[in-house]
Amino acid sequence: MKKLIAGNWKMNGGLAANEALVRAMLAGIGQPAAHVALCAPAPYLAQLQSLLAGSSVAWGSQDVSAHEQGAYTGEVSAAMLRDFACRYAIVGHSERRQYHGETDAVVAQKAQRALSAGITPIVCVGETLAEREAGQTEAVVKRQLAAVIHVVAHCTSEIVVAYEPVWAIGTGKTATPEQAQQVHAVLRHQLAAATAHPERVQILYGGSMNAANAASLLAQPDIDGGLIGGASLKAADFLQIVAAAG
Ligand code: PEP
Repeated sequence: MKKLIAGNWKMNGGLAANEALVRAMLAGIGQPAAHVALCAPAPYLAQLQSLLAGSSVAWGSQDVSAHEQGAYTGEVSAAMLRDFACRYAIVGHSERRQYHGETDAVVAQKAQRALSAGITPIVCVGETLAEREAGQTEAVVKRQLAAVIHVVAHCTSEIVVAYEPVWAIGTGKTATPEQAQQVHAVLRHQLAAATAHPERVQILYGGSMNAANAASLLAQPDIDGGLIGGASLKAADFLQIVAAAG
């Protein structure tokens, strides 16, 4: 299976900076062996569409509303994302869970909305440091993924999962390849009970993945790609990660 390297710009960027970054990426990317995507703040999706259409790089959002349409001020629906040809929508990022109170049930609803619009949800799961230290890592990620599987049911093989230990996001602390692989294997096993083809579900690792550590993480048997925060804001770093996924 081709790996997937997805950038998550978070709440960074601007029209001029985005254009410079995307042009630098396109200039260096060649014919990547991996699938590549950039997830931008919603106001810049039209810009990404015009810069990336026809290229080897897809684009996506960092969130999607759990509602279909209507009186939900500030929300962006899956149909709106589809209007801008988003291929992916990140759902359940730990920053959304932590700062915006997203529950497992809301995250599952968001994944379902994305799928219904033909958009692939990148479903983030991951434990906090306190949960890891309490020996709850497996229970937490399994609970988070189970909520999504319960709602998307027979469409489970169409999701992407991202294992992102919260303690490794934006901290410079990376899970070791062995630590990450251990959790990825648990997730793969859980997917096997829900879909006939668990090997088709890409399970990405995210959490301070960078040009230096990408190759060893991506070499693990159940790590099918990366969700990249900080390093996706630097063209050279991001391109090195894409190359490591070849
Ligand atoms: C993320 O936010 O999805 C992420 C993995 O961030 P970083 O790479 O900066 O740790």
